[in-house]
Amino acid sequence: MGIVVGMRRLLILGAGTAGTMLANHLRRELADNEWSITIVDRDNAHQYQPGYLFIPFGMYKPQQVTKPRTHYLPKGVDFIQSGIRKVRPEENEVDLENGQVLGYDWLLIASGTQPRPDLTPGMADGSLWHKKVFDFYTLEGATALHDALEKFEGGKLLVHITDMPIKCPVAPLEFVFLAEDYFRKRGIRHKVDITYVTPLDGAFTKPVASRELGNLLTERSIRLASDFAVESIDNDRQVMVSYDGRELPFDLLVTIPLNTGQQFVFDSGLGDESGFIPVDKKTLRSTTYDNIFVLGDASNIPTSKAGAVAHFAVETFIPNFLALVQGKPMPNEFDGHANCFVESGRGQALLLDFNYDTQPLTGTFPLPVVGPMKLLGRSRINHMGKLAFEQIYWRMLMPGHKLPVPTLMSMAGKHEEK
Ligand SMILES: Cc1cc2nc3c(=O)[nH]c(=O)nc-3n(C[C@H](O)[C@H](O)[C@H](O)COP(=O)(O)OP(=O)(O)OC[C@H]3O[C@@H](n4cnc5c(N)ncnc54)[C@H](O)[C@@H]3O)c2cc1C
Repeated sequence: MGIVVGMRRLLILGAGTAGTMLANHLRRELADNEWSITIVDRDNAHQYQPGYLFIPFGMYKPQQVTKPRTHYLPKGVDFIQSGIRKVRPEENEVDLENGQVLGYDWLLIASGTQPRPDLTPGMADGSLWHKKVFDFYTLEGATALHDALEKFEGGKLLVHITDMPIKCPVAPLEFVFLAEDYFRKRGIRHKVDITYVTPLDGAFTKPVASRELGNLLTERSIRLASDFAVESIDNDRQVMVSYDGRELPFDLLVTIPLNTGQQFVFDSGLGDESGFIPVDKKTLRSTTYDNIFVLGDASNIPTSKAGAVAHFAVETFIPNFLALVQGKPMPNEFDGHANCFVESGRGQALLLDFNYDTQPLTGTFPLPVVGPMKLLGRSRINHMGKLAFEQIYWRMLMPGHKLPVPTLMSMAGKHEEK
């Protein structure tokens, strides 16, 4: 693409969930004779990450989750396939691994988070990695775990979170409920001792959800090992060891490794100690650089890292950005809205709806009494909603179409508890 003198340059880093939505919305809104839009990603394989959860149980095929990024990017957006090496915010420039240097007037960072099994001793560097110790937060891990689960005939299964924050914090719980159901259907449930191992003090982060999800663990005879801060995995003895000296033996360990921001974020000095970029939680604007915004999992906003959150955040951000570049005040404030289905096995799911200020509560969604979806309660329709999300993702969210769900969280239908 030739750069026209006087063109304003918008650069998006990452063509995953948030970056693709941004490119589609903004190309529609910004005149293409005034604005160039460039988006960078390391490959042309957009992965529907919620699908990773289903691969281990044979409910999704690995090839089902990947589509070319370029199919979901609009005309008039320049896609560059390269790794990102470094942002130099003082110069308004980004260095790519292919040697290109990209200048920008506005930078939107949508580079997400990455699992780092290399940061826990005995995890990625252990002899049991992808033999008896698995992750399912990568396509490779989820695929390898599928084979291991098929061969598993019984013993101790640990499903484990290394530390928070992780993307989709409900996915490990969903995994444990689906695993319980999977073993039941195979007729070997009585031979599998399942423990959910978490660094939190209960099944989930917030009190009401923690209680409801904790009750479901008990009902399914799944043990809970809380406050477990893993120090290392002893591959020879097949035990997970915590900093306070506790040991948990396993025959199969499914772990969510530490999730951090991307290496280029650390290398650019943009992130906190975990590589997440500090932003104003209402506008998603960098607290250090006025011409940088961060959308999706890459920022440090205190809500779940989830595609649904990225969607609501992008919808709040677009009118703000359009106002800002016209020199007007930003009209919207993001409330941290998150809306997640939680698979609970047996063809059912729960729904969580919350934001920065309101924890997940029981009730109905989106309407009071009639729902039709249950909040923090199991139902078939919630499960159908979870499965429908894949088509909604590709056909509605990625192209930037409006969904019939409020961008900001509503209290309608929610049961408040003291
Ligand atoms: C198992 C699992 C289940 C999930 N289930 C749900 C769910 O049910 N509901 C839900 O809402 N969310 C779910 N999520 C979370 C959801 O997928 C993420 O929150 C969402 O994808 C975040 O979007 P993002 O754009 O911030 O990051 P991503 O979609 O991860 O995109 C980041 C992009 O940046 C690129 N990138 C990063 N670094 C570089 C670099 N150095 N050079 C070049 N490119 C780079 C990456 O290649 C990637 O394409 C799930 C996630 C997992 C792992």
